[in-house]
Amino acid sequence: MENPKVIYLDNNATTRVAPEAAEAMRPFFTEAYGNPSSMHFFGGGVQKHLDEARQKVGALIGAAPEEIVFTSCGTESDSTAIWSALRAYPEKKHIVTTKVEHPGVLNVCKFLESQGWRVTYLPVDGEGRLNLEDLKLAVTPETAIVSIMWANNETGVVFPVEEAARIVHAKGALFHTDAVQAVGKLPINLKDARIDMLSLSGHKFHAPKGIGVLYVRKGARFSPFMMGGHQERGRRAGTENVPYIVGLGKAAELALNNMEKENVYVKGLRDRLQAGLVKTIKNARVNGGGAERLPNTANISFEYVEGESILIMLSEKGICASSGSACTSGSLEPSHVMLSMAVPQTYAHGSIRFSFSVYNTGEDVDAVLKELPPIIERLRAISPFADGKPLFGMDACEAHKHC
Ligand code: PLP
Repeated sequence: MENPKVIYLDNNATTRVAPEAAEAMRPFFTEAYGNPSSMHFFGGGVQKHLDEARQKVGALIGAAPEEIVFTSCGTESDSTAIWSALRAYPEKKHIVTTKVEHPGVLNVCKFLESQGWRVTYLPVDGEGRLNLEDLKLAVTPETAIVSIMWANNETGVVFPVEEAARIVHAKGALFHTDAVQAVGKLPINLKDARIDMLSLSGHKFHAPKGIGVLYVRKGARFSPFMMGGHQERGRRAGTENVPYIVGLGKAAELALNNMEKENVYVKGLRDRLQAGLVKTIKNARVNGGGAERLPNTANISFEYVEGESILIMLSEKGICASSGSACTSGSLEPSHVMLSMAVPQTYAHGSIRFSFSVYNTGEDVDAVLKELPPIIERLRAISPFADGKPLFGMDACEAHKHC
C-alpha cells in the first residue's frame, strides 16, 4: 500500500502497533500455532505464552493474572460487564452511568431502558467533570451496576473512579469502569481499589485492533457473555486469539516500562500545540482545559466553523485528527460530550480532537501550527454560522456537502 506522509494525531481512535509487539506476535501465526487447550506438547507450549501475556497485562493495571479475561475488544468488555451485573443481580433493575460515556456503554444502557431497566445518566460540568455528590444520590439499593469511564475519549478528562468505586461499593452495587482510554496512559493499580470490573482495549496503546480485556475482581459476582468451552476459566468461551494476546502482553510491558517518560514527552507536544493554536487563532477554546486530563489529548473548538470541514481540509494536508460531531440522518448535532458540557452553540460544532502518541514528533506539531490557522480563516470567511444564524438539519448538511 502507498504510504504518503501521514501526520497522525488521532491516537485516541487507534494507535500504531509497536514494532516490538508485531515482532512478538509473528511466530504465533505460522510456527507456534497450536491450540492452547490441546493436551499435546505443541499446544502446551503456546499456553505458556498466554500465561506470560496475562501476567504482563495484570502487571500494567495492578491485577492478579487470574483476574484478567481476554476478550475481542473494549466494546465486548463493556457489554460483558453490564450484562454480567444484570444477570448476577436479576432483582435489581437500576443502572447508573454518565452522559459522556462511549457508545459501548451508552447504547447498551439505551437498549436496556427499552427493555424496562431504569438508567440514571450523571451530568458533567462545563469542564467535563463529574460531581460525586450526584453519584451518592443516584445509587440506591435497586442499583445493580454503576459504569463510569476512567477517561473521556473526546476530551481526555479523567474521572475520580477509585473514589467513585468506594462510594458505590459501600452502597452494595457493582462498579465497572471503561478504562479504554486510560490504560497505558495513566498509572493504574487495582490492588486496593474497589473496582469490580474494568475494560481495556489493546489498539489504544500499541497492540493490534481486535483484542481487549475485562478485568474481573476476584470474588466479584460474574456471569459470562460468551458461553461454550472452558477458556478463560469459563468466563469467556472461544479459542484464544493467541498472536493478539501475545502482542497485547508485549504492548502492556512496554507501556509499564516507559509510561512515565513517554507521558512527559507526549504532554510536551500536546501543550505546545494547544498553546500555539489558542495564541494564533482567535476565538478558540480548549474543552476540558480546566480539568485533569490525559496527557495526550487536546480538544479544541473554533467558533463559527464546523468540525468536519476542518478535518477534511487538514486531511488534504496529510494531517489526521478527529471531531466528535456526527453528521448523520440529516442532522448536524454536536457530540453528546460537547452537549453535556454545555459548550456554547457557536463553538460546539467546531470541536477537533488532537491525540498524540510517542510516535509523534515536534514536526507534527509544527505542521498543524502552520496549516490550521489559514484553514480556520478560510472557513470563517465562508461560514454560514458566522453571521450568527447557525444552520441546522438537512440545510446544514447540504451546505457542507460532506455528510
Ligand atoms: N470505550 C472508549 C472510551 C473508547 O474510546 C473506545 C474506542 O474508541 C471503546 C470503548 C471501544 O473500544 P474497541 O474499539 O476496542 O471496541
